[in-house]
Amino acid sequence: MTSRLDDDHMWGETTATEILLTTAAPRIRYRQFGAAHEREHGADWLWCWVDRDGTTFCFLVQAKILKSRGKRWSVDFTYRTAGDERTQISKLLTASDRFDAAAGYVLYCGDAQYRATLECDLPHQDVLCRDRDRAGVSAVSALVADNAVIFQGKGAGVAAFHAAVPVEDITGPDATDPPIVGLSRGLPEDLAHFFQQPQRGARRVAKEIVRPVHWIRVRQFSPATLERSALNTGALFPELPADQGHFPVPYLQHVLRGLRTEIPDYVRDVLDGRTPPAWVTHHLAGIVVITDADAAPGHEVAS
Ligand SMILES: [Zn+2]
Repeated sequence: MTSRLDDDHMWGETTATEILLTTAAPRIRYRQFGAAHEREHGADWLWCWVDRDGTTFCFLVQAKILKSRGKRWSVDFTYRTAGDERTQISKLLTASDRFDAAAGYVLYCGDAQYRATLECDLPHQDVLCRDRDRAGVSAVSALVADNAVIFQGKGAGVAAFHAAVPVEDITGPDATDPPIVGLSRGLPEDLAHFFQQPQRGARRVAKEIVRPVHWIRVRQFSPATLERSALNTGALFPELPADQGHFPVPYLQHVLRGLRTEIPDYVRDVLDGRTPPAWVTHHLAGIVVITDADAAPGHEVAS
C-alpha cells in the first residue's frame, strides 16, 4: 500500500485483496472463485483460521478502503446496488447465515503517513488510532459497522477503524488478551471461561472480533436477555445467550457461531486443492485459509 501511495495511486478493494493474498501466500492458503464476483463492489470472501486440532473460525468479509477527503475520513459501508433497497451490511449479514460464519470487514487503511490527518477522540490506551502498528489491514465485525453507521453517521468509518484489529495481530501471541467483562452474569460456563482466560488461534480471532461488539453492548443501557438458544451443529459453544441489545441480530450467537470444533468440508477442499461444491463457489469471491493459526510465532508447521 505504501508503494502504491508513493506513486500517488489510490488503491481499490479488489487490487488490495489480490496484493495481500499473493504476498501472504504460502503462509496463508486461498482459492479464488467466479469472475462475476470480481466485478461486484465488495465481493464476499470467507476467511477461515484453522488450528492444528481442527478448531476453525469462519469470518465472511468484504474488503473496504479507509478513504480520506482532506480531513474527513470514511468507509463506504452504506453502499447500495442500484435498484436494491437493502444495504450492503444487511446483505452481508444474510449471506453469512449460509456459512454459519461471523460477518465483517477487512479494512485497508494505508500506512501511518497516509492516516496522518485521521483524528479519533475515543479513549485509547497509549497510542493514537492512526499510529497503531500494523493497522493497515484490520478486521472488524459487521455489527460494529452497523452500529457505527446508525449512531456515528459520518464518523462511522473512523469509529469502525478504532474498533478494528490488525489482521497480523488477530491470533494474538504477541498482544495482551485482557478478560472481557460486563454482562457476564449467567453466562454459560464455557463462554465465561473463554471471556476470562487468554486464548490462542481460532478462538482468539473470535474473541478479538467479539470484544468491540461486546464493548458497544455494555454501553447500551437496555437490560441483557439471559435466555439461551442452541447454535448450529458443530459450533464450539453449542448454546449461547440470545441477547441482542440494539444490534440487528443476537450478537454473541452471530459472532461465535463462526467458531466450530471441526474444519468445514469446503475449507478442507481448499486445503486439499479441490474445488468446493457449487453452493459455495457461486456465493463467494473466494476462500482464505490461515492454517496453524494457533502456532507460536516463528514455529510455523510446514503443511
Ligand atoms: Zn481510535
